[in-house]
Amino acid sequence: MTSPDGRDGPCIFCEIVAGRAAAHRVYEDDRTIAFLDLFPITRGHVLVVPKRHVDRLTDLRDEEYGDLFRALAKVCRMTERLSMDYNVAVNQGALAGQIVFHLHFHIIPRYDTAGPFATTPRTRIRAEEAQTVLRSLGDVPS
Ligand code: 5GP
Ligand code: ZN
Repeated sequence: MTSPDGRDGPCIFCEIVAGRAAAHRVYEDDRTIAFLDLFPITRGHVLVVPKRHVDRLTDLRDEEYGDLFRALAKVCRMTERLSMDYNVAVNQGALAGQIVFHLHFHIIPRYDTAGPFATTPRTRIRAEEAQTVLRSLGDVPS
């Protein structure tokens, strides 16, 4: 779908949901998908995304919050195989750093004491590295 607020082009996350754009999928159910961030802040950085296009957390229907949160918790459990320390974040609006205007949660594992706000350069994930991370995340917990 095209971003409803006039931002350019088709929505990249809708393209991933539809299978028209590639992604390293970590989790999927009827309403939610999770995949590796293309430019991970740390190893295992995952995005958890409702399949229905909404821009903001406050745009979901009441009945959608439960499913999304359950899926988020499952992917958090997978993340805990990498590290028990991680940030779960939503950037909401351009000033908050949102660049993809399709709602998503970031799950960002932390491995060192540099602190969550230390900035490091972000490079595009390589396919082999993505496969290693997917193996480490393991199966979806029930
Ligand atoms: P935001 O800043 O909107 O909260 O986060 C968007 C995230 O999506 C960024 O961390 C960025 O690296 C990631 N991203 C942007 N385009 C793509 C893409 O095509 N595929 C994947 N897997 N991640 C993307
Ligand atoms: Zn979308």
